[in-house]
Parts: sequence; structure tokens; C-alpha cells
Amino acid sequence: MSTSYDPSRRDELAANLAEVHARIDRACAASGRNRDDLTLITVTKFFPASDVEHLAALGVSDVGENRDQEAGAKFEELSAQVRGGLTVHFIGQLQSNKAAHVVRYADVVQSVDRAKIARALDKAATAQDRSLDVLVQIDLSGAAGRGGVTPDAARALADDVAACAALRLRGVMAVAPLGSDPAEAFGRLAAVADAIRGDHPEAAWLSAGMSGDLEQAVAAGATHLRVGSAILGSRPSPR
Ligand SMILES: *Cc1c(COP(=O)(O)O)cnc(C)c1O
Repeated sequence: MSTSYDPSRRDELAANLAEVHARIDRACAASGRNRDDLTLITVTKFFPASDVEHLAALGVSDVGENRDQEAGAKFEELSAQVRGGLTVHFIGQLQSNKAAHVVRYADVVQSVDRAKIARALDKAATAQDRSLDVLVQIDLSGAAGRGGVTPDAARALADDVAACAALRLRGVMAVAPLGSDPAEAFGRLAAVADAIRGDHPEAAWLSAGMSGDLEQAVAAGATHLRVGSAILGSRPSPR
């Protein structure tokens, strides 16, 4: 353990996790989806390595992080046993000069939004003699938003990713724009995902849905949900 064991924190995380699983079960029942087709990614940004240890003990297998420095330090604190049981998803905005560092700890990068990032990840993964699962991040805002490629440019970027030997194109990721109707936004995302899957049948992942809109994401066909605050509690604002 990297920090002292706190049973009350583990109980709190267990209760929150159970509630999120119940929401996913209800959403699957409501839309006739198979629960086995959904992966819950617990987003641990801003929370310490000790929380990741609790989550791992509670059966969490997939975690998401969005800040490179924080994530790198956090995963170094974990024991090899805990670390080895986790699939790590990087979901934050990425600079090409950080690609080599991210490739050291991430199993999946969900936030590829330009060819330059894809090439940097490919080079880093090749140098580290490994392959990397990649999602293309789609900007659903219609304005300069939180990162992502426009829906119009998404297929070309998917082609660029698929052409990188060390990258495996897995699908698409998006965040519903603030103030939007998530069902409508995820519907547009599903259309982009379908078009890309037409070109690349292996690109079957659709990463959508967070604490506030996971039900709409399940209804729209999400395969991966990224849930932070509903499991870990509210976090301090980023800046
Ligand atoms: C923080 C974050 C999440 C989780 O958001 P919550 O509302 O806390 O569930 C999901 N996706 C991305 C890209 C994020 O940055």
C-alpha cells in the first residue's frame, strides 16, 4: 500500500461503484443491451494512488486519466500486482512531445485528434516495442471545444491512425458538449462511428457517457463509459 489503509474510503467507493453498476444495469435493460458489451472505465484524475488501490481491490479493471504528469506519477506508486491488473486509458488532451511518456503507462489512448499525435504515438510505441489501442476523439460541439476532430474530418484521421503500424484503431470517443442534449450528441457520434466502422471493421469501440449522461450513452450504443465523480466524488476544478 502506498498510503495508510482507510476502510471508510473503501466502503464509500464500494457503495458508489455499486450505484453506478446499478445505473448501467438499468440502462441496459431499458435499451435491450447486453451488459457484457459495456466496459466501465473509472476516471481517477485528481484522486490519489490509494484510491486506485481500493478500486482494484473492489474489482475495477479499467481506469482513466487525463493529465500526463499526474498519471505517470500515480501509476509508479502502485505495486506491480495492482498495476498489472489494470488497463489504463489516457483520455486527456495530448501534446506530441508527451507521447513517449504516455506510451510508457497507457494501454489505450482515447484522445487522438490529429495526425501529428498519431504519428508521435506510433513512433513512441515502435521505439518501446509495443502496440497501442487508439480511439479518435470527435468534437461534437461544432465550435472550438475541449479537443477532438470535427465529424467531417474524422474518417480521414481514422485512416491516418490505421496506417500507423504500432497503433490499433479501436473506434471513437467523445464528450457531450456542455448544455447540449446528450442523446442528440451521442446520436451524431454513433453516426460517425458507423462511418468509420464501414472503412475499418475492427474499430468497434464507442467511448461515450460520463457520470451525468451514461444512460443516454448506453441507449446510443456506447461500448465504454468513462465515469469519474459518480464513483470518486466531486473533484477540485482543474484550474
Ligand atoms: C473527467 C472526464 C470524464 C469523467 O467525468 P465525470 O463527469 O466525473 O464522470 C470522462 N471523460 C473525460 C474525457 C474526462 O476528462
